[in-house]
Amino acid sequence: YSTEQLRAIDNAHHLHPFTDHKDLRQAGTRVIARADGPFVYDTEGNEILDGMAGLWCVNAGYGREELVEAATAQMRELPYYNAFFRCTTPTPTLLAQKLAEIAPDHINQVFYGSSGSEANDTALRLVRHYWALEGKPEKNIIISRDWAYHGSTVAATSLGGMAAMREQLYGAVPNIRHVMCPYAFELANPGESDHDFGLRAAKAVEDAILEAGPENVAAFIGEPIQGAGGVKIPPESYWPEIQRICDKHDVLLMLDEVITGYGRTGEWFAAQSMNIKPDTITTAKGLTSGYQPLSALLVGDRIASTLVEKGGEFYHGYTYSGHPVACAVALKNLEIIEREGLIGRVRDETGPYLHEALQAGLGDHPMVGEIRTFGLLAAIEVVKDRDTRERFQPEGSAPVVIRDHAIANGLMMRAVMDTMIMSPPLIWTKETIDMAVDRIRKAFDTAEKELRQ
Ligand code: PLP
Repeated sequence: YSTEQLRAIDNAHHLHPFTDHKDLRQAGTRVIARADGPFVYDTEGNEILDGMAGLWCVNAGYGREELVEAATAQMRELPYYNAFFRCTTPTPTLLAQKLAEIAPDHINQVFYGSSGSEANDTALRLVRHYWALEGKPEKNIIISRDWAYHGSTVAATSLGGMAAMREQLYGAVPNIRHVMCPYAFELANPGESDHDFGLRAAKAVEDAILEAGPENVAAFIGEPIQGAGGVKIPPESYWPEIQRICDKHDVLLMLDEVITGYGRTGEWFAAQSMNIKPDTITTAKGLTSGYQPLSALLVGDRIASTLVEKGGEFYHGYTYSGHPVACAVALKNLEIIEREGLIGRVRDETGPYLHEALQAGLGDHPMVGEIRTFGLLAAIEVVKDRDTRERFQPEGSAPVVIRDHAIANGLMMRAVMDTMIMSPPLIWTKETIDMAVDRIRKAFDTAEKELRQ
């Protein structure tokens, strides 16, 4: 099929996720045909450096023959069997053991699904079930945050805090409340230190707990670093204070590490980078580097031991919970990440270098309000005026122009409102980072000429 034929067929039959289809018809679909290492290639012959690792997921990079072999061998041996009927298959069992080994010490159990959204649905049901088993069914309110993204199912969208998404819920799961997120760039008061802002944002969580009554609050859920909300990195004071507040009020702590898990922050999990002890950790994406759909909800001892001690069926699960092929790929993927020392490299080398290189290449750009990084996650705030932090109008319009120029220059980046974000594969080297920063700089320069006309 030619690119034009594929576009026409796609237009005729394919509804895309998170897409304005009227707009898509005008812009035309890009057909990505293959990928290798850090690059993807479209059918028109463009080589594009993938600054988003697909959708925050291809941690081990493209073209991993070992993952293909792991999948093929498992499909030959046993393509599918379920984990209902008191059965298991070897790979989900062995993967659960591996996940218990790399997770924080108090986390030793795993519940599988196929996506981050499913894993968050599971987490929501599980924490409420936990309190019911403990004889406190009224303890069922979940506190979440503005700008949170926890997925697209009804429950995950209800947990989420993106206003536009929530508007389309037409009926949310009840007893979920939202508080401010720790986004200092827009929400800190003039003169307020990062430290104090972090404590104030955490206090918003405590205020919500007190308002609801701690006896009614099941859990607080948050991404350690809000990803799709714009790579919002909280001040260092934030998470330890959240931990203290949750402990004080006996509120469970649910971390959504769908993006931050599996090395992106320079540890297996951001819980370790931030030294916190969540009761659940939602993971997906980097678990298989995107080669297979798989999610793992990591469940702490407190919840897991109640499930075992109190007994009774937890009426929840998916046909593909613990899919043997996806789990075989995950096992091999974690082996690769470990063998190649990718996590240490992010922590000690590429993570710090990404920050330095972005500062050196863009730190003085008239359209850059702030550069934030943590491990291999990056955000660049786009402003019209560096001093006043005034944005271009309408909201979110400038980053789209920059994004289009970045892609034209051979770099896939994403625009979220007024922020440009990046989340590259963990295989990026200093050279790849230099190449990316050079392309971003060019995209900013070209966009500026257009935007300031
Ligand atoms: N949670 C977070 C933090 C995410 O970033 C995402 C997806 O981007 C999800 C949950 C949902 O995962 P999925 O798209 O696999 O359902």
